[in-house]
Amino acid sequence: MKAMTNSTDSHAVTIEDGWLVRVTDLKQYAYCPRVVYYQYCLPGVHPITFKMQSGIEAQDRVEELEKRRSLREYGLEEGERHFNIALTSRRLGCTAQVDLVVAYGAGAERTLLPVDFKMSRHEPGRHFMLQLACYGIMLEEAWQAPAPEGVIYLIPVKRAVRVKLDKRLRRDAERIVAAIRAMVATEQMPPPTPQRSRCVDCEFRRFCNDTI
Ligand code: SF4
Repeated sequence: MKAMTNSTDSHAVTIEDGWLVRVTDLKQYAYCPRVVYYQYCLPGVHPITFKMQSGIEAQDRVEELEKRRSLREYGLEEGERHFNIALTSRRLGCTAQVDLVVAYGAGAERTLLPVDFKMSRHEPGRHFMLQLACYGIMLEEAWQAPAPEGVIYLIPVKRAVRVKLDKRLRRDAERIVAAIRAMVATEQMPPPTPQRSRCVDCEFRRFCNDTI
């Protein structure tokens, strides 16, 4: 199989080397599978845009504010906060960095709450929930404690949305990770998104000759 790069990595890797899906790819895949295909199978085509950069900076500011925020916003009285937790699951074939994990309860009652900060004002879509489900699955594996729920924190409106990480959401998240891995392994370009309005401002439009 031809070598491919993760566009933020400087070296080429292969599936055989243990290449892992980034959990953030799930959101892109839900938007249009081709975006993920281009990122991995056409190396070096995805610059960090201004919007992404400002999102990163806003996220840094939120982390500072978060340290002063009451956990009551997440429906908790107390807990330990852990920021920017790096996770890898060989079983799932995934890697991730979780913005915040709140661990609460002690001993057999210890429970984990992954929190994902988003630069969005709107009710979170399923793609955000799928990401959160991956965080929950990976945290449970790595930290050996249950993560029955997670939170999507909407930065612009300062709102915490609690999400149940139920069986169906977990199964769908695992299925999408497997689909991304299969797509990259076979280098099979997927069909374009059926929602062609998304193509208008897409930075990969120049590679898609069969859209608009
Ligand atoms: S132009 Fe359309 S089909 Fe092509 S990658 Fe962008 S959103 Fe997907």
